[in-house]
Amino acid sequence: MTTHNDCSEISRSQLSVEEALELLLAQSRPIADSERVPTRSGLGRVLAESVVSTIDVPGWDNSAMDGYAVRSADLAASGGRLPVSQRIPAGVVGPSLESGTAARIFTGAPVPAGADTVVIQESCTTDGDWVRVPPDVKAGANIRRTGEDIAAGSQVISAGIRLRAQHLGLAASVGAAELTVRRRLRVTVFSSGDELVMPGTPLGPGQIYNSNRFTLIGLLEELGCEVRDLGIVRDTLDATMEALAEAAERSDLILASGGVSVGEEDHVKPAVERLGSLDLWQIAMRPGKPLAFGHIGGHSGTGRTPFIGSPGNPVSLFVTFCLFARPFIRRMQGIAGSVRPAAVTAEVGFTWPRPAKRREFQRARLEPDEGGRPRVSLYPNRSSAVLSSVAWANGLAVIPEGRVLQAGDPIEFIPFSELTG
Ligand code: AMP
Ligand code: MG
Repeated sequence: MTTHNDCSEISRSQLSVEEALELLLAQSRPIADSERVPTRSGLGRVLAESVVSTIDVPGWDNSAMDGYAVRSADLAASGGRLPVSQRIPAGVVGPSLESGTAARIFTGAPVPAGADTVVIQESCTTDGDWVRVPPDVKAGANIRRTGEDIAAGSQVISAGIRLRAQHLGLAASVGAAELTVRRRLRVTVFSSGDELVMPGTPLGPGQIYNSNRFTLIGLLEELGCEVRDLGIVRDTLDATMEALAEAAERSDLILASGGVSVGEEDHVKPAVERLGSLDLWQIAMRPGKPLAFGHIGGHSGTGRTPFIGSPGNPVSLFVTFCLFARPFIRRMQGIAGSVRPAAVTAEVGFTWPRPAKRREFQRARLEPDEGGRPRVSLYPNRSSAVLSSVAWANGLAVIPEGRVLQAGDPIEFIPFSELTG
């Protein structure tokens, strides 16, 4: 056959999203260095050494409520009327409970030896130094047992977890004043484009503000990276090579936006190729088709610094960062287990009448409709240049290639909680 079919030619050279991610992750190496930080400063860091408790939590049986501690065996004989022999607030250890008496006790206070049950104050009546407890008390009630939360010697937080507030609380609850975490990942970023100016400078003809710098740095900081910004890099081979060479120093990773196409104003590909190696992937997705991945350096024993270049288009930058750069970074940071975003299945509240050629990652919201049913809706303007769509959305709707959708059809939705931070 002599007919040349451009479309099939293109699709054969395109990678699927899964293939691209697979290739990328195969090249991501966790950084080895770790450091000790005060637990108070651990938020967002990746734990390098598991936290093992040296103590039981709770350390002793304690009262779950404000009430009266009793020996359940005393209740039948006394008819539930007992003298109050002691008072035990939290932080105080009372003496052994005398038979035939009750102890006034407060939440968190150690249950005195001999007592086996706490009766909540709401079901008791008092009369001077006496208390009457109801007849149907359940033996053993309202006591938090020694080691019920954490047993001494057990692992409470495993290495490879990004520490959230609740992990810090848990570490503190077993007395850990410091944690061993991975060193912060050092990422250098720059923005390519002669049309770019920084906010604070008036726009000249044909100029636009450099929004990607803010998106990119924000996304990286949300991931706990230490970011160095080289600013705006002019669209020349020399400027691009200079930026890359500088970025490769003292960096674990270089991220750039813009200039990754193959037009004559796009210098990232030739610049990275001169300083190292680069693949320019065409990925069967929208937005963000081209993605550049390579390494700077690596000759004669010097370190190799990975490089990821995203399209300059602000929505493409955001989406390619979330789907590709973020999993790569998470793997480098030493996150254990899957670093891929997890999707949920949800019903669409819209129709998609014409099948898409490439998989679409549409800016979307998953929220209850008027009837309280969770539904996915799309931002009205689907152009991949509209950054407002990203600010509006709470996730990405995955529209499979080659499919039409009716309202109510199930699709995959990836919440931003799986794509950022
Ligand atoms: P490029 O990938 O360099 O061809 O750029 C694609 C589109 O994204 C063009 O419309 C650029 O003006 C725009 N763009 C590139 N870099 C940025 C940036 N840093 N901030 C905002 N828009 C950008
Ligand atoms: Mg450009």
